[in-house]
Amino acid sequence: MPHEAISVFDIFKIGIGPSSSHTLGPWRAAQRFILNIQRSGELSKITAVRVLLYGSLAKTGIGHGTDIAVQLGLCNDDPVTFDVNAVSSKVSDIASMKRIVLAGKHEINFDPLTDIEFLITETLPFHPNGLSFLASFTDGRQVAETFYSVGGGFIIKEGEQPVVRKGIELPFPIDSADDLLHWCRRTGLAVSDVVMENENTWRPDIETREGILAIWEVMKHCTFRGCHTSGTLPGGLNVKRRAAELNKKLLGDLVYDDYQSWVAAIRTGGNSFKYTLDWVSCFALAVNEENASFGRVVTAPTNGAAGVIPAVLQYFIIFCDGHSNDKVIQFMLTASELGSIFKKGATISAAMGGCQAEVGVSSAMAAAALTEVLGGTQRQVLMAAEIAMEHHLGLTCDPIAGLVQVPCIERNTMGAIKAITASQLALQSSPDFAKVSLDGVIKTMWDTAKDMNYKYKETSEGGLAVHIPISLSEC
Ligand code: SF4
Repeated sequence: MPHEAISVFDIFKIGIGPSSSHTLGPWRAAQRFILNIQRSGELSKITAVRVLLYGSLAKTGIGHGTDIAVQLGLCNDDPVTFDVNAVSSKVSDIASMKRIVLAGKHEINFDPLTDIEFLITETLPFHPNGLSFLASFTDGRQVAETFYSVGGGFIIKEGEQPVVRKGIELPFPIDSADDLLHWCRRTGLAVSDVVMENENTWRPDIETREGILAIWEVMKHCTFRGCHTSGTLPGGLNVKRRAAELNKKLLGDLVYDDYQSWVAAIRTGGNSFKYTLDWVSCFALAVNEENASFGRVVTAPTNGAAGVIPAVLQYFIIFCDGHSNDKVIQFMLTASELGSIFKKGATISAAMGGCQAEVGVSSAMAAAALTEVLGGTQRQVLMAAEIAMEHHLGLTCDPIAGLVQVPCIERNTMGAIKAITASQLALQSSPDFAKVSLDGVIKTMWDTAKDMNYKYKETSEGGLAVHIPISLSEC
């Protein structure tokens, strides 16, 4: 098999919550389907479109906004730039008019209630997150395409090889932690430098740096917004937003207009253990509350786990005095490589591996990245990722009511704290005495994923999802 070439911008993608596999992936699949038809010159001949959702996309698709995502994708709206405040009015208009404008150009009849089918008893063999699009044309022909949303917003069209950017030859091909360590040893480069050399294959260094800082801007503003937005999350579970309340408890009633002055105020509070812990939790809660509200977030490596990396990076910047663009870039490059190794060796899809594949992976990515920016050796960087994942093994995915809220939002605080602990442990340890290698834990995670009962893989048919009584209001 050729090496899978995954860039930092494949792991960190700007989009809209609440789920990378159930929202962003299906959105991109719908866009790809409709744009393919448009490119073939047949868009204006479409008379009808139907969408079939299988497996986990059917079981938790309503709570994860999959139906909303495919409609916006069929309209060719872009998840990176689409106004998050316009999501609800746009889908309400489609539902009330029973009309949709395909690719923003060709209007047809479309009733989301009947033209999007949730086939909860059917699962396609390749992956639990399958979806098919069917288009009918004026001459009676029909075209059908099936896609799989394989986690983190990545999609694969049926029949395609799961290889990102075929034909790319990287100077340092990496499929495993051993490969990464091999290149670090051979060149003497830090993990982030090896990754940057690979990124240089795709684009000039300056563009990679600017792109990473643009992603960091989205993460910062997402955290700031989440820390200043109160109320109840959508979906009917009536989950109260907590980040803004905690922010107020920690900083008092003073209002800060922008991120920089807010961060300056946080710094004045010192760095006691309890204060630091509260802030790390607050950052993670803030991002995931934004995610649950269809806000603008960055996959890291998924939307459900989007809070861990921003929380740990803000911990480093604010409480370890680590503010510099170079450090942010170093952090993000390291984190992305670890995410990509987990994707290649196991999975970053909760429908395949439970929450160990989401919050577990994000925690490992953050632990490695924090260790790198705190001056750890390459082996300590890998050791930190190993420790973080070792203590997420077997973590199930059982979101209540199929919403990315409980346990997801709090779980990101746990992932962030474990990442910091894992990094600190690695920095205080010698990898010579480590009993478990990173590749060993990745293989264990994958075996655990395969053994895990389907009920705990983003189906909401087991765990908290069936043991917590809920009364969803009609919505
Ligand atoms: S339980 Fe974990 S994996 Fe499942 S939806 Fe929530 S954050 Fe994602």
